[in-house]
Amino acid sequence: MKIDVSDILKSINKETKEEVTYDFDSFQSRLGDFPIRSKSPVILRIANQENKKLLIQGTVDLVADIPCGRCLENVPTSIHFDIDKELIIQDGSVVDEDMEEIDYLIGFELDVDKLVYAEILVNWPMRVLCKDDCKGICKVCGMNLNKGACNCQRTELDPRMAAIQDIFNKFKEV
Ligand SMILES: [Zn+2]
Ligand SMILES: [Zn+2]
Repeated sequence: MKIDVSDILKSINKETKEEVTYDFDSFQSRLGDFPIRSKSPVILRIANQENKKLLIQGTVDLVADIPCGRCLENVPTSIHFDIDKELIIQDGSVVDEDMEEIDYLIGFELDVDKLVYAEILVNWPMRVLCKDDCKGICKVCGMNLNKGACNCQRTELDPRMAAIQDIFNKFKEV
């Protein structure tokens, strides 16, 4: 979704509130492709402050499927954060604090999808677990250990056991 901000930029202290949506239904990044299960519309406040600053504020609320960091099962994960941008109005155009152009605001067109995408990326959870005591997957056979034990589990978990078994095997050979 795109919003024309030319009116706001031209009028000192003008502001609008708009209910906006973003069009992507999955979040794709170099970490993977994560389906968005649900998302709330964003109430975006755009304000011209003294013809000096352009404020863009709103709250993003969504639920994305993110695999558990241990067992890889999908975990519906709530992501909730505020957008609070303070941009600089200079000679009728908008730049960031470093006087650089802004990729989600080209000319007078605010690209809501691009803005929200960049903010989700920054607020993406570092690590998701299905539960605090998730047992993970067996490193040998790949079984999800929350669903039961596999046969290779014992030697995997306790290397001392394996050593004792070796001794017994040797003893039998003698
Ligand atoms: Zn898990
Ligand atoms: Zn196993």
